[in-house]
Parts: sequence; C-alpha cells; structure tokens
Amino acid sequence: MKALIYLILLLFVGTSQAYAWEAFYVLKPNELRFSKAAGIQSQQAAPTDCRARLKEITCIVNPIQDPKESRSCQPGSESMAPAIERIYDVLPAKLQQTFCSMTVLFIENDTEVLGYAGVLTWDANREPQGSFMGIRRTLVEQNYDATSVLGWKEQKAFGLKAPPFVHLPEGPRTSIVLPSSLSALHYVIVHELGHILDFANRANSPEPGSWTALSWETAEKPKADQMFPLWSKLCFYDCKEQLGVADMEDFYHQLAPTDFITTYAAVSPWEDFAESLTFHVMAEHADFEYQIQTPFATYDLKKKWDGLGMKKIWMQDFLNRDLKYPTPLK
Ligand SMILES: [Zn+2]
Repeated sequence: MKALIYLILLLFVGTSQAYAWEAFYVLKPNELRFSKAAGIQSQQAAPTDCRARLKEITCIVNPIQDPKESRSCQPGSESMAPAIERIYDVLPAKLQQTFCSMTVLFIENDTEVLGYAGVLTWDANREPQGSFMGIRRTLVEQNYDATSVLGWKEQKAFGLKAPPFVHLPEGPRTSIVLPSSLSALHYVIVHELGHILDFANRANSPEPGSWTALSWETAEKPKADQMFPLWSKLCFYDCKEQLGVADMEDFYHQLAPTDFITTYAAVSPWEDFAESLTFHVMAEHADFEYQIQTPFATYDLKKKWDGLGMKKIWMQDFLNRDLKYPTPLK
C-alpha cells in the first residue's frame, strides 16, 4: 500500500530541525507504533461518540528512544482525558468530529514541542485514513495560560531562550485572553485540529482558490504583496540566520500590513492555515483578546483578524463545507 504519513510538528518549540515548517516526520503506517493495555481500545470500527473516544485514545508516552519500538501507553493514560474533554466541550461541532478519526492522542512526558498532529495515511483513492495528535504533558496537567505559553514561543523567533514558559523583559510582550479564560491547551488543540482538517480537505494545494493561493507564491515563499524584508530572517528553530531583539520593532511594523495573522502564520502555508483557523474559532467569542507589545508599539491581532476580509471569508466558507475527516482506523 502506498502510504504517506505527515506528522507535522506544530507550535513547535524544538531546536533540532532546520526550519519549523520543514519538520515533517515521514513515517510508514506501521511506524506509528503504540500499545495499550488489552480491553481499553475500542472495538468499534467507526466510532460515533467522539467525546467518549478521548478516554480510549489518550496515551501517555516517554520520548522515542528507538523508532522501531512500540510506544507503550503508560498506566493512567485515561486520566488525561478530562482535561481534553473540557476543551472538547467548547469546540465547534466540526472540530469535535475530528476526534472520531483520531487513532491516538499522545501525551508527551518530555518534548520540546507544544503539540503536533497529522493524517496517518491515504488510501488508494487518496482519501485520508486515521489521524493523530501529540500534546506536551504539562499543558494537559497544568493550567498554563496562553499569555505565558504563546508569549514564550513568540520570543523564540527573536533568539531568546527562556525556561518554559517565561517572558524575558527584552523581548516582545504577548497578552492573550482566550474565550472563557481557558488555558493555552485550548489554543494548541484548535491549532493542531486545524492541521488535520487542512490535510484531510487539501486546503493547502497548489491550485487556484486554495488557501495557499491567498498569500503564498509557493509553499516556501509568500506572494510579492505579502513579502516583507525581514521575512527571510523569520525562523524559530536551529536557524542559520534569525531575527534578533534589535529587529523587533521593524519586524512587527513590516508584519502588520500583511495578511499573516501571527508571526508563526508567516512561516508556511500550513501554519498560516492552522493559526488562521484558530483565530477564526477564538474570534467567535467576544472575550477573545490577543496583543503583542514592543517598547514602541502595540499590535492588536484580534482587530487585525476582524479586518482580514479574504482570509476570514475563505475560512468561513471552509468551515461551512461538508468537511472530510480521515476514515477511522481500528
Ligand atoms: Zn502548526
């Protein structure tokens, strides 16, 4: 069987890959190995209760030592489900549905990233089968607020390395209020679901009318009207060249008139989609706020999203579609 697996690292805070957006793991289907105690896994071929499934797919794991070894879910894995259920309960139904396609939701004991997600494989008709997600365990167990977590990540783009999840005074200050004041986990889960929906529905294809076509000349390069001088230095991980604190004022000044909703959205069409979908979902709620502050300027990203006509309409149309979900795998 011809199989492609996309494991895109999302909201990526690692250091080992050359570029965040090139950090695909390409696996064969039998390389997503994990095992759970007998009797816990559902016998249902096509689950219909996506919320009930959360208990079955949560899987606490240690870092991969040997890629050939099966990752075994640690005892107590299902105790992670209630935190995920709290987020599930506030998601739009079309996002909730994605969990029915999910083969496993790894809760990573020790990882550099905040989360990752992808589609497992494609069948002979190029329809997606199975999906997976991974989340950093501390985000599930501790109620870290979005300001701390996403602000810490934002500073990484400027070469700042603080312990998780601390803001350094010399970097940009992020200030976020999520709907109902939910934790950073809310943002991370919506972002990751965005990647699965993107892959399953081919939102980012090279065709006219695709999400890519809105702002990207190719998957590697923004269109001329979206390009800005400091884009070439935008890099989050293991970078040859990277923005520094001295670039901060110019960077945000240049990013502001583009259609990239966040710094991370400007990295690639995939992150652009996931970040924009997250903003779309959050902005449905009046209490959502997202600001970036530098010593000389404040950028209100919620207001920016409200003004992004084409992207907002595209995303609304996307979510109104009869969306495809990966076929659940046993
Ligand atoms: Zn992502």
